Amino acid sequence: MFTLIVFLYSLDVKAWRLGPTRRCKSPSVFAGDFANENVELVRSIANLTIPKAAILGNHDCWYTPQFSEKKKDSVQLQLAWYGVSDMVGSAKKIYEAALGIPDDHSIIFLAHNGPTGLGSQINDICGKDWVFGGGDHGDPDLAQALSDLKKSTRLSIPLVVFGHMHKELAYGNGLRKMIVVGADNTVYLNGAIVPRVKHSIGELGTSSRSYGNNEVPFQADGPHATLRAFTLIEMSDGRLEKITECWVSVSGDKVALEEENILFNSCTGLSS
Ligand SMILES: [Zn+2]
Repeated sequence: MFTLIVFLYSLDVKAWRLGPTRRCKSPSVFAGDFANENVELVRSIANLTIPKAAILGNHDCWYTPQFSEKKKDSVQLQLAWYGVSDMVGSAKKIYEAALGIPDDHSIIFLAHNGPTGLGSQINDICGKDWVFGGGDHGDPDLAQALSDLKKSTRLSIPLVVFGHMHKELAYGNGLRKMIVVGADNTVYLNGAIVPRVKHSIGELGTSSRSYGNNEVPFQADGPHATLRAFTLIEMSDGRLEKITECWVSVSGDKVALEEENILFNSCTGLSS
């Protein structure tokens, strides 16, 4: 059994040192959007000694294109460095990377955004919540790669985890579905709880102030307790056992679990 911890929209490097990762040394994944081109923060992730995987998001390339004379071309140029010129090429790249996995291994996909095909309502896991009528905002290259792998290989893909699409919907339209179990039992998990860090009042940690998207600098060593969101994934023998969203309070060296929301349990399936 091991536990995977998913971080998204993390703006406080020190939170990781004070949080669960320091104690359990669990493998951790970071799904991008580490504030807007915060190089120091990205460097701190690279320096973490725990087993980890990370991917960058659109906010990690937030300012640079705006100062480029050829905004669109600069993005295309960066993709070309990786041999990707279109969605077909991108899907092929993902597919080929997965082929190197030994047969007896399971693959966990980490992406910044989820794949297409998971719904087009505003509250679907990759649904557009910022336009009337919604729409599917998933990535077609990821969907194609997953489809091709399932058709042509026997690789086990128990989990696809990503962020980008905020849990709290635009215009006060409620909350997003954060988990989907596919027809072939692949679980799609969105960990984009935004803001991930909230300031709290008192020992019960009632939220009073929080940072929104495109975070501002945060003082983890401040005198006030904070609440921090984590998504925990428990796996055993390549099989998903449990997925939990939780809020952890941190005050000085005191760390406590304040709230736990079970999204998935292998015995009962999805939780409502
Ligand atoms: Zn993003």
